[in-house]
Amino acid sequence: MAEIIDGKSVAAEVVAGVKKSVAELAAKGVQPGLAVVIVGEDPASQVYVANKSRTAKECGFHSVQHTLAAETSEAELVALVERLNADPAIHGILVQLPLPAHIDAGRIIQTIAPDKDVDGFHFINVGKLATGEIETALVPCTPFGSMLLIERRHGKDLSGLSAVVVGRSNIVGKPMANLLLAANATVTIAHSRTKDLPALCRTADILVAAVGRPEIVRGDWVKPGATVIDVGINRVPAPEKGEGRAKLVGDVAYAEAERLAGAITPVPGGVGPMTIAMLMANTLVSASRHAGVGRQAF
Ligand code: NDP
Repeated sequence: MAEIIDGKSVAAEVVAGVKKSVAELAAKGVQPGLAVVIVGEDPASQVYVANKSRTAKECGFHSVQHTLAAETSEAELVALVERLNADPAIHGILVQLPLPAHIDAGRIIQTIAPDKDVDGFHFINVGKLATGEIETALVPCTPFGSMLLIERRHGKDLSGLSAVVVGRSNIVGKPMANLLLAANATVTIAHSRTKDLPALCRTADILVAAVGRPEIVRGDWVKPGATVIDVGINRVPAPEKGEGRAKLVGDVAYAEAERLAGAITPVPGGVGPMTIAMLMANTLVSASRHAGVGRQAF
């Protein structure tokens, strides 16, 4: 049976570390500030944003939420981001995705000042991560958090280990692969055009699934003893819980995979909690950089 990687408890440790650093920063007259912007009424986005704002308050941040109507124009959103860029009380700006179709999400992301881009999606931060300039980058929260879970088991140096990342999105797959590469793993990125995905996955000492397809990674795709990081969050019908009920499952068939894996993240309670914790960590990092003071490492 695999070790279950408890993302909730690692996330709680990260948040506790952030709180401690916030108290130290307060003594120097600095309070990290996070602005979360949501446009429209997507219910899932509203839950994510509420969680982010709540955790930011818990951390002792100056936490601001901007809730804009679905019909907000691109120009209005650009103007808000530019105001936040110029606001010295704000160190982190997060615009919740997806945005309504009439707004060019790419333009909005590139409008965020790179040193306040706590999602790590601006080209400057993408480029720094891709070139190994991680010390001065802001790293996307989900891969950053996944990496922390991997480090718990393997340490910071993954020399000699092979990693397979299934998924090549800009939000998860690509930054995840770059982080693994920077940690000296031998990395393969798989996607929908990959031939014989099961055989490729079976070569992985570290298998990261970021696909968005419920339980696509089966137990017999897992190399015995591998570390399995399941990023997927999929809502599927759960008639066993009652009519019309749903449950969350990952991209990995957990019950099958845990028999072979050395360690595995559950869904929920694995990578999910890490994402918000790393957003707090990134905001702290940004505030510390702006104030020119040292900070704790994550
Ligand atoms: P995207 O839809 O942007 O990317 C999915 C990737 O999976 C693509 O690269 C796609 O390949 C690949 N893919 C799709 N089908 C297959 C297949 N049959 N075989 C192999 N590869 C396939 O998703 P995201 O990266 O944004 O998210 C992935 C998952 O992670 C989702 O479940 C999402 O909900 C979850 N997520 C969880 C977060 C958390 O906090 N835990 C945060 C962000 C996302 P191709 O490029 O060829 O189309």
